[in-house]
Amino acid sequence: MSENAMTSSPLEALATATLPTRFGNFELRVYRWEDPSAHPALSREHCALVMGDLAGRSDVPVRVHSECLTSEVFGSLKCDCREQLERAQAEIARRGFGAVLYLRQEGRGIGLANKVRAYALQANGADTVQANEQLHLPVDARTYDVAAAMLGALGVASVELMTNNPAKVEGLRNLGVRIARRIPVLVPATPFSASYLETKRRVLQHEIPSAPMNHRPKVVGLSVVDSERYEQKPSS
Ligand SMILES: [Zn+2]
Repeated sequence: MSENAMTSSPLEALATATLPTRFGNFELRVYRWEDPSAHPALSREHCALVMGDLAGRSDVPVRVHSECLTSEVFGSLKCDCREQLERAQAEIARRGFGAVLYLRQEGRGIGLANKVRAYALQANGADTVQANEQLHLPVDARTYDVAAAMLGALGVASVELMTNNPAKVEGLRNLGVRIARRIPVLVPATPFSASYLETKRRVLQHEIPSAPMNHRPKVVGLSVVDSERYEQKPSS
């Protein structure tokens, strides 16, 4: 389906340009997506960072990544977002094709100020889930409609999803995205991120080792050795 054919979609293609990065040359596509249910602090402009022609292609390595200003810009050690993003870009560059869908869902969809409020509560002993609950905010307010729409606009037939989050696999699948495989993105914990990663494993059921500090995956690219190949189901 061409982007022009998607006139009834709320996804609007705004701009495209080549973006040289330290991982290789990508094409940066910017889209607008109006979601009235999204937190008002969140940007409506989302990005697809694309390498190669993905139209009609199967088993495309894809990272659906939610914005994390604190780690990606400031190098925060409280989470593994930046490293997951960089590993995904490196893996796409290694294969020569793929996409990062960068969604502006800061703080798992609660916005930057609320995320920092949650950090302040975490400094007093709350974990990442308890902090959101104390703020009367959802633990995870993210949605993946825009990611599914971007994959449709790019014409991707099926994806190999780079994630540890089973809820993301399920969420995308429920939106009609064909996921051929899940590729784990395992980042060693730091002393600052260990309890956060443990909460993601224990409470949010992310598929990460219980002692990720001992795990040392290759920094360049991702191993598909540990990946889960899903049974191909006919699209309904
Ligand atoms: Zn983060």
